Amino acid sequence: MVESRKSMIGQKHCPFCQTPARRTCAHLALAVEARDFVRRCVEMCQGQQSWQSLCQWRRAHPPAASRSMSLESGVPLSEREDFTWLETAFCAEFLQRLSWFGGTEYEWRAGPKPEQGGFWVLLWSKDPQRLWWELRDDLERQSAANVQLPPPVPSPEAWRTMPLNYAR
Ligand SMILES: [Zn+2]
Repeated sequence: MVESRKSMIGQKHCPFCQTPARRTCAHLALAVEARDFVRRCVEMCQGQQSWQSLCQWRRAHPPAASRSMSLESGVPLSEREDFTWLETAFCAEFLQRLSWFGGTEYEWRAGPKPEQGGFWVLLWSKDPQRLWWELRDDLERQSAANVQLPPPVPSPEAWRTMPLNYAR
């Protein structure tokens, strides 16, 4: 029982130089508790402004799925969502496509008391500084693109009633 748990929570090693994560090699861009992961990423790349405007834009233009979800659950979209994004969603949408992204792993780390332990996210990169620069550029690019986005596409009803020559 103890054995299997030990192996499950076993230490992670750097995918580039095999140093144990606890010893912090040059490829460990970030090691932080999962709930703080997104906030720390945004801080590390100094992209707070772009991130805030991205989050504001998303609140104003929620994807259809999340809009209906929040309507169904009755939970309004709120400010708090900025940093309560699941770190996996943030990874999938913002980190994984960066060329300096090296990978993420989870490691269980104990707190001062056993019940204070938690999952930490380890973010790897061959060159963390370049990863942060790349992330900042990407956030800036995305928030700038949103500002220039054309008005929303008319609903299907509006298209149907629209004269054909106008639609072209
Ligand atoms: Zn390393």
